[in-house]
Amino acid sequence: MAETPKTRSTRKEPAPAWVDGQQIIDVVEDSVDEHWEQREVTDVALSPLPAAEHQAPACGACGAETNCYEPYEYQCDDCVLTFSGSDLTPAYVVEDEKPCAKPCANSWHEPDKIKNGYRFDCFPCALPSSHTSMCWTGCTMREADRDR
Ligand SMILES: [Zn+2]
Ligand SMILES: [Zn+2]
Ligand SMILES: [Zn+2]
Repeated sequence: MAETPKTRSTRKEPAPAWVDGQQIIDVVEDSVDEHWEQREVTDVALSPLPAAEHQAPACGACGAETNCYEPYEYQCDDCVLTFSGSDLTPAYVVEDEKPCAKPCANSWHEPDKIKNGYRFDCFPCALPSSHTSMCWTGCTMREADRDR
C-alpha cells in the first residue's frame, strides 16, 4: 500500500480496518464507544473468556518461532537445531553434521566500536553447516583490559 490513508476525523482513530485487502479510510464519526451505555451486568450474556495459549519457544539463535514435533520437541528448521521439550537444551538435528564455522564478520565487534573500553571475544558460527539462517557466533562482550 503506497497511499497514506486519509481520515475525516482528527479525533482518536480506531485501528485501520481492512476488507479484502482494501483499507477502509472513512472514520465513523459517532463510534459505538462514545455512545455506549453500560448496562446492568446481569442483563448481558457473555461468551466464555478465551484461555491463553502456549506459544512454541523462540529459537535461541535466530529468534524465530520453533516448530513443535512429536514427541514434544522443538525445532528450528532454518538453524537446523532441536530444543528439548523439557528444558530447551539445544542440539544439532543431525548429530554428526559439521559446524558452519564461518568466522565472525561483525565489524561492530572491533574493540571500542560499541562501547569505549570494551571488546568482543569472537567465535566462528556454531550452527550446523546446512543452516539457512544468519550465522550465530555467540560472541561475548567484555572489558578490553580484563584478561581471560
Ligand atoms: Zn533458528
Ligand atoms: Zn564477533
Ligand atoms: Zn553459519
